[in-house]
Amino acid sequence: MNKAALKPRSGTVPRAGVLLPLPLSGAYDYAIGQELPRGSLVVAPLGPRDVLGVVWGKADGQVADARLKTAEPLAGYPRLPEKLCDFIDWVARYTFNLPGNVLAMALRSRSAFEPETTRVAYVRGEATPARLTPARERALRIAEDGLARTPAALAEEANVSAAVVRGLIETGALKEVALPEFDPVPLPDPAFAHTALNSEQIVAASALREGVAKKAFSATLLDGVTGSGKTETYFEAIAEALACGKQALILLPEIALTVQFLDRFAARFGCRPAEWHSDLSQKERKRIYRAVLKGEARVVVGARSALFLPFSELGLIVVDEEHEQAFKQEEGVIYHARDMAVVRARIEDCAVILSSATPSLETWVNATTGKYAHVRLANRHAAVMPDVRLLDMRAHRGEPGSFISTPLREALAVALASGEQAMLFLNRRGYAPLTLCEACGHKMICRNCSAWLVEHRYHRKLICHHCGFETATPSQCPQCGAAHSLVACGPGVERVAEEFARIFPQARFAIASSDTLHGPLETQAAIRAMMKHEIDVVIGTQIVAKGHHFPQLTLVGVIDADLGGAGGGLRARERTFHLLHQVSGRAGRAEKRGLVLIQTRNPDDAVLKALAAGDRDAFYEQEREFRERAHAPPFGRLAAIILSGYESGTVRETARALAAAAPAARGLKVWGPTPAFYQILRGRTRERLLVQAERNVDVQAYLHVWLDAARIPNGVRLTVDVDPVSFF
Ligand code: ADP
Ligand code: ZN
Repeated sequence: MNKAALKPRSGTVPRAGVLLPLPLSGAYDYAIGQELPRGSLVVAPLGPRDVLGVVWGKADGQVADARLKTAEPLAGYPRLPEKLCDFIDWVARYTFNLPGNVLAMALRSRSAFEPETTRVAYVRGEATPARLTPARERALRIAEDGLARTPAALAEEANVSAAVVRGLIETGALKEVALPEFDPVPLPDPAFAHTALNSEQIVAASALREGVAKKAFSATLLDGVTGSGKTETYFEAIAEALACGKQALILLPEIALTVQFLDRFAARFGCRPAEWHSDLSQKERKRIYRAVLKGEARVVVGARSALFLPFSELGLIVVDEEHEQAFKQEEGVIYHARDMAVVRARIEDCAVILSSATPSLETWVNATTGKYAHVRLANRHAAVMPDVRLLDMRAHRGEPGSFISTPLREALAVALASGEQAMLFLNRRGYAPLTLCEACGHKMICRNCSAWLVEHRYHRKLICHHCGFETATPSQCPQCGAAHSLVACGPGVERVAEEFARIFPQARFAIASSDTLHGPLETQAAIRAMMKHEIDVVIGTQIVAKGHHFPQLTLVGVIDADLGGAGGGLRARERTFHLLHQVSGRAGRAEKRGLVLIQTRNPDDAVLKALAAGDRDAFYEQEREFRERAHAPPFGRLAAIILSGYESGTVRETARALAAAAPAARGLKVWGPTPAFYQILRGRTRERLLVQAERNVDVQAYLHVWLDAARIPNGVRLTVDVDPVSFF
């Protein structure tokens, strides 16, 4: 007999819908001892485990009381702010993800919910030891101030051994007290140090400050040439948020999160901001997460994931370098942190500032149509814009295997002779992008991906930049067996560096790419070496293109400007423009005017011409027209659907069936399936469909109708990428 049938079905036990940070289709019903508001943290049994969950809303009453499990409130924690819950729901719906997966991003610091521990520390006790050595006296003198110190801290400060401190503890001269697990997060002071802004910065800063002071939603594009002082200017908006008693969040592309930035912040506000990025230790995560949740952290600077932190008094979000592709998360929950920052600001009813020298086309259109406020900084602070020239490589062709043209070589010689610094830019890691057999034409291709293996000569390896597969560079062609027949085709940064060293054997140079610099610390060390002029020339990938200010750098050489286009789809032109513009901005940031030499085989290309003419807005006008004609974003909506799996036949068949099942809808078209640009990645075959819709179409609703009814076989994964940036 069914026991549950004997009991009332539901309604006697208080219950709630609890969302768990797991890939589940929605909130689950749990019994709760008392009414708990949305956002309350609970511990909920799930199978054999206990899971951290969040009260999300009313229960749906599907489960009978008798089968209902009980969720216990997590004592001692403030609840998640309700607006964060609303934001999570919004992101889940828009990006076509399960809310539990989005919640998982907001609860990313699991350790933050473990009980807080204490640290053992000591203060001066009543007893005075019978024997007072000079070392003991030193330690006690320091302890007289009444501050609690850990034994290690006291030993270090008094310059005594651990044994001395231990002895003082045993005699009772030091007495144990408990310190909280973490030191408090320092409070930035909006009035710590004022920067004397120049006149256009003053106008811009007051516009930004007004936006914050309104305590209502506003979006502003802070549009200023590199070196115009955008950072100094938006610091004033942060000061305003602090003065209004609000919290502020600065989102930076991970790569720009440098000591330089933190120190600039400290110079203005008296202390560093709280940091949030992938390099934090579990302990730091716990510290910062809790400090945000309790409202103790007032300013956080972080990478895109910081957008999901539990701020409850947010007054301002700044997205610096808003055009950066790094804000688009391409794995797991696929979302664009810049777009979602605007959404969070709308939900929080606060200001958002998007800052860039080369805004994304979307943001530029929003600013020029008045949807966003447009604040401009037209002049460099104490420097002029560089002289940008195109070098037609069809006319300057050197010997094979040479990638530095004569004019660039001469300019390098001049810069080095005058004791200045230079940068050579090529957005390609490794030594050569392709290894080819001269005897049979065989190309070295990854065994898991349809991509070329990139030679890394320093490591003597061929590496796949997609899946990480690597193999020693063979001495014979694996196809025809010919010896010494494999040749490197095209340049990577290592190869350019080799050529540079041959031409300028005396010059000090460094290669800067993600292969040569491991993690933020090494990157910072390299930046410091450049600042201190321990290096004459840096040869790097996009890692060097952004944000850094090197006063003695006067020459930038772009090795191959024609590289940005491949496979970039809709955004290839924009990306080339952004990158080259950013790189150019590195030249001549102080007294001397910079020179930028761009090597290209397409000197008539409109993007390059706009760059050389220094006419940024001409590029935007062209690109806007182009997108408008193509009904591309922001004039239309796009969503990509990627099907992938190990069985290529099944993947292709599923993609075809899915396309055939797409319902007809007005103002919306489904393209494909077509093989993705990299048809095979990590062994998985990939097929793409593209949904293109007019702006007023609810694409998410359409996707639900279509995809909820689709049958996707096991072994095939379906991924939805709303507003795709990458078309690979
Ligand atoms: P952007 O972010 O627009 O590239 P930054 O804010 O990094 O520009 O400023 C570029 C350089 O100029 C920095 O070294 C900055 O300290 C300096 N700077 C900008 N504005 C001022 C100012 N008002 N007073 C002094 N230095 C300034
Ligand atoms: Zn691969």
